[in-house]
Amino acid sequence: MKQAFISALEHSSLEELRRIPKSDLHNHAGRGGNLKYIEAWANVTIQPHSGAFASLGEMQEWFVHNVKCHCPGTQGYLKRIEAAFAQAADDGIQLLALSFGIDEIDSLGGMEPFIRIMDSLHQRYAPGAVFLPELALDRAGNTNAVCRRLGEIFAYQWFRSIDICGPELAQPITNFRSIYRTAQSAGLVLKAHTGEFGTADDVLEAAVELELQEVHHGIAAAASPQVMQWLADHHIRLNVCPTSNVMLGRTRDYASHPVRTLYDAGVPVTINTDDLLIFNQSVSEEYLNLYLCGLMSAVELNEIRECGLHSG
Ligand SMILES: [Zn+2]
Repeated sequence: MKQAFISALEHSSLEELRRIPKSDLHNHAGRGGNLKYIEAWANVTIQPHSGAFASLGEMQEWFVHNVKCHCPGTQGYLKRIEAAFAQAADDGIQLLALSFGIDEIDSLGGMEPFIRIMDSLHQRYAPGAVFLPELALDRAGNTNAVCRRLGEIFAYQWFRSIDICGPELAQPITNFRSIYRTAQSAGLVLKAHTGEFGTADDVLEAAVELELQEVHHGIAAAASPQVMQWLADHHIRLNVCPTSNVMLGRTRDYASHPVRTLYDAGVPVTINTDDLLIFNQSVSEEYLNLYLCGLMSAVELNEIRECGLHSG
């Protein structure tokens, strides 16, 4: 596959890239589909957002008014999840981590119906992909309320990993310490969004305090050789989402994306979509973007692709 992937990049062939096994390990399920899929289902035209968003709030507002309005309620939510699985199958994603919030579990009536529905969508729309469900906690949420739910949620042994997402500066990461110890005892892979809006020190603090194995984003670490060295020494992988970072103003463009610096420092990295219904770039397109702007060579991008497939 190595040569096929390198040749697909060199020929700028999305068709070929899509056929090669890849992973998507940072994907917020309800926003992980493809705009065309939703357009076809709702029989509408959706203009992708152009330019950068000023904030996460502005991004969320755009999503509600341009995408979610066409797929509302439970039926619309399930269509968006279906779209995420269908997109993964269409893009050759072999390893798919989709993240879900506790509110999503509750909206479908609790863990039993939730698991039944998600597993059947997986089997129907992306049977060839290994599905790694991730429990995503809100950084601004009430951690005591989350604690009270963990026993019941983990009893099903369905979630494979845990994450914290949302406004990164909402509350100290240390508030999540006991939740992460419980998740660790339950055998989950420990991840969290950090170093997207915060600093290199925030990445280090989160990794140390929560004993993270992976970081979602973490790109701020590129500003600190010491933090990068620590991440490399401890084999902590960063699940990077280039278009998300560009569209949220975390980096000027693809050519200046910090994934280059992180890679050069020996930090394990993967390439992912984050919110495909908003950022509108598939995993294959993300690889091609990094190649065409001259940031990474085809050989390096293949190494990153292989890094992503060694998960789970
Ligand atoms: Zn994210």
